[in-house]
Amino acid sequence: MIRLSTMAEADKYFSRIERFILPQALLDQTLQSLRAEGMYQVESIVFWAGTIDSGTATVTHLLVPKGKGVFQHPLQIRVSEEIMAALLDVLNPPELILLGQVHTHLGEAFHSHADDRYSLDTPGFLSLVVPFGGRDNVEAWKQWAFYECTGSGRFRPLGAWEITRRFVIDQNGKVSTDEIRAAN
Ligand SMILES: [Zn+2]
Repeated sequence: MIRLSTMAEADKYFSRIERFILPQALLDQTLQSLRAEGMYQVESIVFWAGTIDSGTATVTHLLVPKGKGVFQHPLQIRVSEEIMAALLDVLNPPELILLGQVHTHLGEAFHSHADDRYSLDTPGFLSLVVPFGGRDNVEAWKQWAFYECTGSGRFRPLGAWEITRRFVIDQNGKVSTDEIRAAN
């Protein structure tokens, strides 16, 4: 698992996220990026960032790691600590906080042991897994596997009812997309 001193700082912004606002454009661009980066050959990953206000998190930024430090395989995706450092560089708590990650599996969607191990270890951090390399269209987003970090490298799966209750699609919400590259 990845431990970063700044995540202790971030913890205080993760107090009880009851609801997530997801712009439709975020879902569209997330799926496009995952497909483009993985090409149905290897796994791919993107990160979501945004704000938290009164228990509601709004995702406003899609962060796409690129180049050196992105290790893509058919059965695993991992990014280097240099990539994570570059990712943290674009954050600006509390205005812009890392809220979650979304990665593909070429087959079924579930959180593997490697996913537990290499994901951020902040309670409340979201981890979504998109099946079949993202082949299904975006309307199938509720078929993605949703997990929430409970700390200590543990992730709890969210059931369909909980996804429906806690995730709200904003048809008009705006999203910015940024590429994340390691410094060297
Ligand atoms: Zn995985």
